[in-house]
Amino acid sequence: MADYLISGGTCYVPDDGLTAQQLFSCGDGLTYNDFLILPGYIDFTADEVDLTSALTKKITLKTPMVSSPMDTVSEANMAIAMALTGGIGFIHHNCTPEFQANEVRKVKKYEQGFITDPVVLSPKHRVGDVFEAKARHGFCGIPITHNGKMGSKLVGIISSRDIDFLKEEERDLLLSEIMTKREDLVVAPGGVTLKEANEILQRSKKGKLPIVNEEDELVAIIARTDLKKNRDYPLASKDAKKQLLCGAAIGTHEDDKYRLDLLAQAGVDAIVLDSSQGNSIFQINMIKYIKDKYPELQVIGGNVVTAAQAKNLIDAGVDALRVGMGSGSICITQEAAPKIPPDLKSHSPKCSSTVMGNYMLACGRPQATAVYKVSEYARRFGIPVIADGGIQSVGHIAKALALGASTVMMGSLLAATSEAPGEYFFSDGIRLKKYRGMGSLDAMDKNLGSQNRYFSETDKIKVAQGVSGAIQDKGSIHKFIPYLIAGIQHSCQDIGSKSLTQLRAMMYSGELKFEKRTMSAQVEGGVHGLHSYEKRLF
Ligand code: GDP
Ligand code: GDP
Ligand code: GDP
Ligand code: 5GP
Repeated sequence: MADYLISGGTCYVPDDGLTAQQLFSCGDGLTYNDFLILPGYIDFTADEVDLTSALTKKITLKTPMVSSPMDTVSEANMAIAMALTGGIGFIHHNCTPEFQANEVRKVKKYEQGFITDPVVLSPKHRVGDVFEAKARHGFCGIPITHNGKMGSKLVGIISSRDIDFLKEEERDLLLSEIMTKREDLVVAPGGVTLKEANEILQRSKKGKLPIVNEEDELVAIIARTDLKKNRDYPLASKDAKKQLLCGAAIGTHEDDKYRLDLLAQAGVDAIVLDSSQGNSIFQINMIKYIKDKYPELQVIGGNVVTAAQAKNLIDAGVDALRVGMGSGSICITQEAAPKIPPDLKSHSPKCSSTVMGNYMLACGRPQATAVYKVSEYARRFGIPVIADGGIQSVGHIAKALALGASTVMMGSLLAATSEAPGEYFFSDGIRLKKYRGMGSLDAMDKNLGSQNRYFSETDKIKVAQGVSGAIQDKGSIHKFIPYLIAGIQHSCQDIGSKSLTQLRAMMYSGELKFEKRTMSAQVEGGVHGLHSYEKRLF
């Protein structure tokens, strides 16, 4: 019997629905569509719901959403947009280590507090050098020091306004001739706090504020643009230096150690070990290697779907777990052994046994069960869970979080946004972008990182674990993520939970009630009985 508040007093109402424990004790594997959460009591507004949640042991996000390390989803633009809106992006590794590290660098440089390693020039540099810096880095607010390096005396500043209208033949002008000179500059003394420096910058109405020490040597600059970014994106995920958080994926091969070093130098905050079955000696060794070499770097292990798999990775020292196997929208891992292609049957016995081995992929777990089981185990060790794959709607996100996940990782839902890599194209008048599984032949043909995940180097024949397709244009992440955030807040409100921490507590205490959905309940839950309709979500 449970207490239930009705107007005028308390009366007893019979228990209704199933606890999470009861829901998952029946032995069937459940997906997000197989159940619903029963509504609770509302005494707060949806926008009061706090979505703060842990990504890893040491990183907390204001928005529990993460973009998947896939080459049609996450490069710098996606990671910047995800971090600005309160989540985080993981840069894929189906590219050279240098390319990947550079994408991370773009994210880390996008917004800053004190810029302690800015691009600096000397008075003897020429206008052409500023144009070059602008082309390479995208900005041209450049402090000028005596020898063109940090730590040298500040002698002036150059900004876009100083060069905007210069003609091609003026490229050879010395910066000393056009810079704003030191005596006219507003500067701040070394040791100011970021808050004080920001106030000086606001009052000066200039684009940059150089910070100098007692010897008038340049120690840092701050940019007005960053104040605007900070104001416009209050949820942004940032480190102590006010740089956006960025994640990246690597494999577990020997040469991934080189990739790791480049990513660490670029300032990556979290590494996800990208493996479809993470419970392996290779991954365990890699976790230990990273934690030993870069103790501060957060390491996410996976993928796992059982407590036994999770145990090994937790014992090895992971800071979070990525949960999901075969639930991704582009994934065919769970599909039981298809027919062996006739042209392969005639191959040598060694070759066809390789084929057989790879076709035995009937492994995986329905995602709701996987998330619940792993989260329920991992929480005892304080290890957050990322529910990866199979997220098709706001409701799925809310369900994943209600089953114990701290964050959700999305591929298809974020694909075809303007921040996803690739160009839009039209098919039958519909604007589309490509989206493909990292284990699709298409992605593996690129012959880089994704092969490591879905195809071991000894395999002679590639076996696809994913497909390649297209998704309809979704517009910008900057509109889409706020829609998802509002949606999750509304779900929590209906449930009667004011925060994600409370949501999980309600689930584990048994207060949160679930109900299975029959096939006809699922039909009833969808739009039905209409001749036609238009589905606009936001
Ligand atoms: P600018 O006026 O052309 O310099 O560009 P903005 O000030 O509008 O934007 C510069 C952006 O680049 C800010 O968000 C800075 O944090 C970032 N940034 C990163 N590294 C540097 C750097 O070395 N110099 C400058 N000027 N900006 C940097
Ligand atoms: P922008 O808006 O990004 O082009 O850059 P700023 O507002 O920083 O610069 C506008 C003009 O003011 C340029 O000619 C700069 O060289 C100059 N300038 C930048 N900082 C100072 C300063 O502290 N004092 C003065 N007097 N001029 C500055
Ligand atoms: P926050 O505003 O939530 O980041 O809180 P903090 O207390 O850490 O911020 C300290 C100061 O830094 C405040 O004045 C913020 O406005 C300012 N600040 C926060 N992010 C940035 C940023 O990206 N760039 C700059 N220049 N200042 C920032
Ligand atoms: P989605 O959000 O599209 O449902 O799923 C994305 C997730 O599917 C990724 O984060 C990754 O874990 C998984 N995934 C990506 N590519 C493939 C693939 O080719 N095969 C399989 N089995 N899973 C994939």
